Amino acid sequence: MLFGTRKITVIPGDGIGPEVIDAALKVIAASGVKLEPEIVEAGAVAFANGVESGVPDDTIRSIEKNKVVLKGPLETPIGHGNKSANVTLRTLFETFGNLRPVRELPGVTTPFTGRKLDIVIVRENVEDLYTGIEYMQTPGVAQALKLISRAGCERIVELAFEFAVAAGRKRVHCATKANIMKLTEGLMQHTFEDIAPQYPTIEAKHILIDNCAHQLAMRPEQFDVIVTTNMNGDILSDLTSGLTGGLGFAPSANIGNDVAIFEAVHGSAPDIAGKNIANPTAIVLSAAMMLRHIGEGKAANDIEQAVLVTLESGVRSADMAGDAKPSTTTEFADAIISNLGKKSDSATSQDFAAVKLPPRREDVAKVEVKERLVTGVDVYIETTLQPQELGDQLMVDTAGASLTLQTITNRGNTVFPRDVTTVSLIDLYRCRFLARSRRSDVGDPEILALLTRIGENHRWMHVEKLYLFDGEDGFSRTAK
Ligand code: NAD
Repeated sequence: MLFGTRKITVIPGDGIGPEVIDAALKVIAASGVKLEPEIVEAGAVAFANGVESGVPDDTIRSIEKNKVVLKGPLETPIGHGNKSANVTLRTLFETFGNLRPVRELPGVTTPFTGRKLDIVIVRENVEDLYTGIEYMQTPGVAQALKLISRAGCERIVELAFEFAVAAGRKRVHCATKANIMKLTEGLMQHTFEDIAPQYPTIEAKHILIDNCAHQLAMRPEQFDVIVTTNMNGDILSDLTSGLTGGLGFAPSANIGNDVAIFEAVHGSAPDIAGKNIANPTAIVLSAAMMLRHIGEGKAANDIEQAVLVTLESGVRSADMAGDAKPSTTTEFADAIISNLGKKSDSATSQDFAAVKLPPRREDVAKVEVKERLVTGVDVYIETTLQPQELGDQLMVDTAGASLTLQTITNRGNTVFPRDVTTVSLIDLYRCRFLARSRRSDVGDPEILALLTRIGENHRWMHVEKLYLFDGEDGFSRTAK
């Protein structure tokens, strides 16, 4: 290993992590670039040592100091208990943009071979359902908060366009589910449509996420850059990696204003861990992205070319060998090293100018409005009453209050005043109370008085204020 002045933080991680990270570090060292890896822990070992976040303080300090991380996959405990160490790292260091490029690779035969796929998913990385804010609303009903902010959408959309400009790309799609989630996913769509005109040389298109998945399977060559919300991006990027050879080939960069974390898209692959058979391509290409990020463009290009030449020469790891004899992870890395300095016949490097990052905001992000009114409240009630009984009781309980029961919904279906017999009911009802006039501004004392009256006979679980911001509904409508 070569030692020099530039330190990077290296997290070997879990499962196949140490094997592929070792391969990447050897390739980096052989490229001649002077880096000093600082090896630290996170993930399963940290959880086992009682670090609840999965990221020990020493690791945090190392990243704060070095700013650049090469990271192996970290296992996420499933179900109860600890949060994902990956999500902790992304949110702690505000790496808001996740770039996940895939492209057709020489010798990696897929059903799409010959169609020259070259797609980059730009995934929002810190908002959406991945904030991990969840509640049991009743013993049998779970709820997750999908938090999407205008500021969060702005910076990921800007990052996508800036990347497109820097990399000489032609088109950016924004993939959302805005037809169903009009406020959350809709905010991403509207922000995209607001920002796109600032980039007149880039074609901008909105596409619904389900159609995007369909189009990716049918005609993937139409896509260039796709910007999307966190969960959509997580799923789409595994899909796009599948189009070009699988997870073993998909690199990624988590980009923030201060820190950047480079890692393969794949996880810890417990099924093949410890066998020295994992494909190191994804992490080696992630390392090349890292080198480009720190200004070592030549080494990045050399490594990328060496990977391409290695694939052209027929070296195959077990995930892609078919009937041929596979190379071990170590042999694969050695082949890449032996090909450093050679040029691929079939593909160029993904070289591009530095991406201009949206500036970091020091203020608390806020959208100004001229007027805000509270026009009502949604009160969530846990009960096993039938809708009509609940509606009748609430009408009596709240008679004379300044807020009047308008509708009751169950999982979004209006069940009162309408008599719906086809809906399967659960024990959580949303009861919408509105002020007598839409332009009223309901105060907290009126809301608290309403809750007190409801609470005398029912168990209410939570309350949402219904805002009008400059006359626009700040809540989703219910069918009458
Ligand atoms: P996975 O990516 O680990 O494995 C999915 C499949 O792909 C497995 O069959 C595996 O053998 C194969 N595979 C993955 N990488 C490969 C490689 N380099 N070479 C050859 N084959 C490879 O996904 P999973 O099984 O859903 O997740 C396992 C664990 O990893 C979970 O705890 C999950 O939370 C975690 N995970 C971590 C990250 C991360 O650290 N960024 C990402 C995804 C999953």
